[in-house]
Amino acid sequence: MAQLYDRVALIGLGLIAGSLFHAMKRAGLAGEVVGYARSAQTRDVAREIGLCDRVVDSVAEAVDGADLVILCVPVGAMGAVAAEIAPHLKQGALVSDVGSTKGAVIEAVAPHLPDGVHFIPAHPLAGTEQSGPRSGFAELFDNRWCLLTPLDGTDPEVLERYKELWRQMGSNVDEMDAPHHDLVLAVTSHTPHLIAYTMVGVADDLGRVTDSEVVQYSAAGFRDFTRIAASDPTMWRDVFLANKDATLEILGRFTEELFALQRAIRTGDGEHLHDYFTRTRAIRRGIIEAGQDTDVPNFGRNAK
Ligand code: NAP
Repeated sequence: MAQLYDRVALIGLGLIAGSLFHAMKRAGLAGEVVGYARSAQTRDVAREIGLCDRVVDSVAEAVDGADLVILCVPVGAMGAVAAEIAPHLKQGALVSDVGSTKGAVIEAVAPHLPDGVHFIPAHPLAGTEQSGPRSGFAELFDNRWCLLTPLDGTDPEVLERYKELWRQMGSNVDEMDAPHHDLVLAVTSHTPHLIAYTMVGVADDLGRVTDSEVVQYSAAGFRDFTRIAASDPTMWRDVFLANKDATLEILGRFTEELFALQRAIRTGDGEHLHDYFTRTRAIRRGIIEAGQDTDVPNFGRNAK
């Protein structure tokens, strides 16, 4: 496959950066991939496992001569990292990020970037509950969506090349504006994570009362919650602080619906419950038909 960038710099070397490296290498999309992480420990692990062609000890060295720089750090750290890389960026370079929220990242990053440097924010809708330099893998983006939120006036050629990178890494690519992205993701990802964190917290409180029955008899629904609630605490703290308005909006709606279901249970309104669950079942079918999940029992996990 054709090489799209001569030199790519990955700042932050965790799950997403590791997966980017392997996916780019799998398709031969980058001449050299240079990596940097703030801690010497992460850089050492990256060197040991061959994550990146070269791992360097300073941000300046990492972005020196890079055609594409991708920020792969928690969203709350994006602004400080952008300020650090700014003086060392090559003219004509493209800076991107993989942050899970977009409005706050644009606000934090864009003011630091010098004239003559392009900026295209991105969010791959792909992840696991794992984190750190050992957790990435080449297939992470296969058949998953990557949402780009380009700013007004983005150079169409620069945009097309970057879209092609994501396509060649296995993703489907779409564009939307940042506020819309943040609202959609509050519904599809951020609020569900908050609910999972809450449910696991409730069970934990209960577990203390029932002496580990919660763990022992953990059924599929709860186990799925615990997997989601095992996600990286720093990343998710930052997501909620950065996507505050949209998350609060969706959480408000969620609470109203929950009260309606609570009332239906209290008043014995089975029709309401049945109608509601019929509607939600159709949504699940829609996701499977869109190729975004499998209808194998237990999500195919028993097969592994
Ligand atoms: P990760 O595995 O935890 O790796 C995070 C990296 O960022 C590490 O190399 C860490 O450095 C560095 N870092 C942490 N705090 C930092 C700070 N304050 N300043 C500078 N560097 C810092 O995280 P990830 O899952 O790859 O997530 C990276 C980004 O992708 C986040 O913005 C996240 O929102 C987004 N994202 C994640 C997922 C997902 O499911 N995980 C999905 C889509 C998008 P050290 O190792 O040296 O501490």
